[in-house]
Amino acid sequence: MARAYTYITKFTSPNQNTRNRKIEGITIHWWGNPVGQKIEGIVSWLCDKRAGTSAHYVVSDGIVYCIVAPGKRAWHAGNSTANHTQIGIELDPNASKRTGTMRTAAALIKDLRSTYGDLPLSPHKRWTSTECPGNYDLAALDRLARGAAAPAGGASKPAVSKNAWETSPRIQGMSKAEVKRIQQMLVDANNSIGKSGVDGSYGKDTFNTVKRVQKALGLTADGVFGPATEKALAAHLKAMGKKVPARPAKPKAPAFPLPRKTGALYYYGLASGPKTSVSGQTRNTAVPGDVVQVKGRWMSKGLALFQAQLIKRGWSELKKDGPDGRFGKTTEKVVRQFQTVAGLKVDGQVGPATWAAAWETPVK
Ligand SMILES: [Zn+2]
Repeated sequence: MARAYTYITKFTSPNQNTRNRKIEGITIHWWGNPVGQKIEGIVSWLCDKRAGTSAHYVVSDGIVYCIVAPGKRAWHAGNSTANHTQIGIELDPNASKRTGTMRTAAALIKDLRSTYGDLPLSPHKRWTSTECPGNYDLAALDRLARGAAAPAGGASKPAVSKNAWETSPRIQGMSKAEVKRIQQMLVDANNSIGKSGVDGSYGKDTFNTVKRVQKALGLTADGVFGPATEKALAAHLKAMGKKVPARPAKPKAPAFPLPRKTGALYYYGLASGPKTSVSGQTRNTAVPGDVVQVKGRWMSKGLALFQAQLIKRGWSELKKDGPDGRFGKTTEKVVRQFQTVAGLKVDGQVGPATWAAAWETPVK
């Protein structure tokens, strides 16, 4: 199906079971206060067993995560019958202000109706005592979903949402250096990428230029620079007698600081874990040199380095305590979110893979 949004299925919530009823409708949620929570964090939480709650879809402007297949029963309504009969959609709580989210939700609803029939929309509060979904105008959303149908006889034009250029590089895991390389390729092929030039930021100008170039090269014009666009543009540059810029060198993580021997697979984790879980909160004689005492408090030097790296990458929740080398609830939460967006096993523990990804996997 040609979708009018970035569709991501790589995260699955364990909070689901089998439906025993036919799908009868769609229930709309917002993911609630505080406003400002990011979609990646919400997806991470709903995919955590401890949450005990889920939805089929999580939606923000231009992006849809499917974390429970609609044929399965997600746990979103707080009501057993509703969970058996409804498809649950969680929306960005800023949606009433950000119409892009509403347009994306409408396109998803349109797609669901084309598969499951003319499903009515219900607010979460129909099923249980809740404020959810706030002041959302479901009648307007319904109209938007019906209006979003492709005009008869006309080709369905993928409606690229207002902020698609912001999600594109993040979802594709591009670093600034990689975006710069793409911009250089566009410029070398005699395209203007706007006033800001080769700046490593996949902004509106770059996005629109990529769309234009894709169209000229006979590709799907979605503004997302994927492997097909890369290949076609590289061939085009070669045909012009120009060099294709080299890929930027991948950043390299420092060596994982803890012992990893059979029977002694140490990792950074909560103090409540086994002896191999190095929290930095207490003395750990098995990791000489890593856990040290500073001003009467134990801390792990390696963990502090990891925390500093995540802060540098924009995980601002860790800023409050700073890179203190002590593994607490906040560090665990951020590690789980990071593992989710980096496509790693989500266990809240920093072993060699999560450690390396903090430097080497560009997710933001
Ligand atoms: Zn709800």
